[in-house]
Amino acid sequence: MLDRMVHDELMQMLKECGAIMLRKEGEPCIELSSGLHTRAKYDFSRAFQYKEIRERLAREFVGMLGDEMDASAIDVIAGPESMGPFLAEMQNFSYFALSSCRLALAKKDKRGTFFFEKNCDLRFDDRVLFVDDVLTTGRTQRNIALALDGWHGRIDPPQVYGAVVLARTIPEHFHKNGEIFVPDVSLLSDTTNLVYPSLHCGYCMRQS
Ligand SMILES: [Zn+2]
Repeated sequence: MLDRMVHDELMQMLKECGAIMLRKEGEPCIELSSGLHTRAKYDFSRAFQYKEIRERLAREFVGMLGDEMDASAIDVIAGPESMGPFLAEMQNFSYFALSSCRLALAKKDKRGTFFFEKNCDLRFDDRVLFVDDVLTTGRTQRNIALALDGWHGRIDPPQVYGAVVLARTIPEHFHKNGEIFVPDVSLLSDTTNLVYPSLHCGYCMRQS
C-alpha cells in the first residue's frame, strides 16, 4: 500500500498537469467511452507527456511492484501501445529486474480489437507482467489478455500478472459475475468518484 501522503501528492501532480477532468456537484456527468457515468476522468497519456511525472509515477510503481512480486520472474512487460513511454520508463529502474525484460505493446485494429504485431517477441513460457493505466470495468485489460492468449495460444494465462496505475470503483452490485479483472497491484485508487452505468447513475439521480 502506498503511503496516504504520497498518494495525495501523486493525485495533486496529476491534477496540476491536466490529467484529471473533474465535475463539481450540480454539473452534468462525464460519459466515459464505455458509456459509464462519473465525475472524474483520467487521461494518463496527458501525464506521460511530462518526463518528471512519468519518472515519479514509474519510480513509485516499480517500488510497489517490488514489494508485491518477484520481478526476476518476469520476462515480458505488456500493455496497450499508449503505455509505451511509461513501460520504458519503468525499465530505467535497474535495481528492479525489469530492465532486462522485453516490451510487448498491443495495438488496436479498426474494430477496436487488440493484437500484437507479428514481429513481437513473445515466447511460450514467457511470464508476463501486464500493465495498464486506468482500471474501470476491466474490459480493456481482459481484451489485451485475450490478445496475449491468442498469440498462437502460446502464452499460458496463469503466468500473467496484472498491474494498473489507477483503479476506479464501480459500486459492487453493478459488477457482472466473472467479468472483473483483478489486478495484483494498483498504485493509485479513486474510491470517491464512483463509476455508474448511465441508467443507474447515482449522480444523475441526485440531480433529477
Ligand atoms: Zn450521470
